[in-house]
Amino acid sequence: ASRAAASTACAVLDAVAAALDGAADELGRLDAVAGDGDHGIGMRRGSLAAAAAARAGHDRDLGCGAVLVVAGDAWADKGGGTSGALWGTALRAAGHRLGDGDAPTPGAMAAAVADALAAVRQQGGAAPGDKTLVDAFAPFAQELSRGVGGGSLAAAWRAAARTATAAADATADLLPRLGRARPHAERSLGTPDPGARSFAIAMTAAADRLTQ
Ligand code: ADP
Ligand code: MG
Ligand code: MG
Repeated sequence: ASRAAASTACAVLDAVAAALDGAADELGRLDAVAGDGDHGIGMRRGSLAAAAAARAGHDRDLGCGAVLVVAGDAWADKGGGTSGALWGTALRAAGHRLGDGDAPTPGAMAAAVADALAAVRQQGGAAPGDKTLVDAFAPFAQELSRGVGGGSLAAAWRAAARTATAAADATADLLPRLGRARPHAERSLGTPDPGARSFAIAMTAAADRLTQ
């Protein structure tokens, strides 16, 4: 197993948790427009638990894939809500795909992200355009797959995070077709989807950490 890859996974999860902690108020406000207002609290709690579980797993010598799996378990367990369950699923799927062998190549990372997206779509049943985190996740995964062909993981991740940020902003024009915001769909027009926004924040933080 590659200790360096597991260590990077821990550092990225720490950076994601710090960014989501800083964005918790903004995410709560977005979710209060048409949802129940708990998205900031849930993402903060889930990502912190995931980062702590990843560290504990790394200390027990788990490899990169297994570290992501225990982080996903913790996120689903402690994050709560729809988004907690979906982030847990995403991390578990990515971890299972990566496994614990050699340090993953950029191509393997993109494949793991594609598997995570497929698992999220399967579990939540959301398609692009439904105004969920899938609207940021799908273009992120696509841009990452494209980008890893031509350069470093950090550069591809950075470009994909930019794409996700623009896509999350663009969800303001959509009407929610799933989840808690659906009964108040009209109210959410003009406001981006909280889950898409938090996805973009998390992937931007990951890009910053991968660039270091
Ligand atoms: P809850 O809605 O249970 O309070 P959160 O507020 O934490 O959970 O998360 C809300 C976010 O979850 C939404 O903004 C949306 O991005 C995402 N979401 C909701 N339902 C689905 C679904 N079926 N598939 C994918 N994402 C979803
Ligand atoms: Mg909510
Ligand atoms: Mg809730």
